[in-house]
Amino acid sequence: MKVHHLQTGSMCPWGGPFMHDKGIFGGHAHLICHSLLVETEDGLVLVDTGFGLEDVRNPRQRLGMLFPTLAGVQLDERMTAVRQVEALGFSRHDVRHILPTHLDLDHVGALSDFPHAKVHVYEDEYIAAMSPKTFKEGQRYRSVQWAHGPHWERYSLEGESWFGFPSVRSLAGAGKDEILIVPITGHSRGHSAIAVKADNGWLMHCGDAYMHRGQLDLTNEHCPVGLDIFQSAQCIDNEARVENIQRLRQLKARHESEIEIFSAHDEDEFNRLKQISEK
Ligand SMILES: [Zn+2]
Repeated sequence: MKVHHLQTGSMCPWGGPFMHDKGIFGGHAHLICHSLLVETEDGLVLVDTGFGLEDVRNPRQRLGMLFPTLAGVQLDERMTAVRQVEALGFSRHDVRHILPTHLDLDHVGALSDFPHAKVHVYEDEYIAAMSPKTFKEGQRYRSVQWAHGPHWERYSLEGESWFGFPSVRSLAGAGKDEILIVPITGHSRGHSAIAVKADNGWLMHCGDAYMHRGQLDLTNEHCPVGLDIFQSAQCIDNEARVENIQRLRQLKARHESEIEIFSAHDEDEFNRLKQISEK
């Protein structure tokens, strides 16, 4: 399966040098939204959508008052998944399936640009987004982003294990065992990684399970302090989040040659993988 790496968002969050590891004169951190566009026998599959056309047109209504300012969201229609799908010569109707790692506002803004697509989501995340339990959950999910009524396909805790990770489900309709939902909770109630079997091995899109490549550095584990605090403050279950980062580190140590593990917001990871995919 051919996989395209798309940058579908750009953010320069507050926090200056505490949010990156480029030194005190390094300016603002730059976080991106990393999406995958997968060409399958059953049409195109989009993994995480980033921001969409309606977010660009109505940022306050779609993203709220606080988030765009604090996160330094930079919106640009050319960066939306739908415009990049079109630039690759496809139509928006070719996108048949969408798999968000979770339903936070920076991961599902473009659901409404692909109203015909099935949206495959882990059940716990769906419930968290539809019935937020806390103020924090109420802030992170923006129901306006799915007000068009997507065709949800929900998956519960069943399935075979994948490299020792339990509770994995195949994606219906896109080829058996080639695109999997791997629940890795902590950041949100039903946060999941999405594993894609590409031509040259597995890609594991970890969403916000971690946010800085240094967290998975096996010889020098590190994370900018501001980004570390942000992750603890933002998550729903810090114990699960920290434990899952350790599980990802173990996975990387054992299977680095078979699985490319990456997160949603790290620009260096994105640039490296995009370059490899275009060779
Ligand atoms: Zn995110």
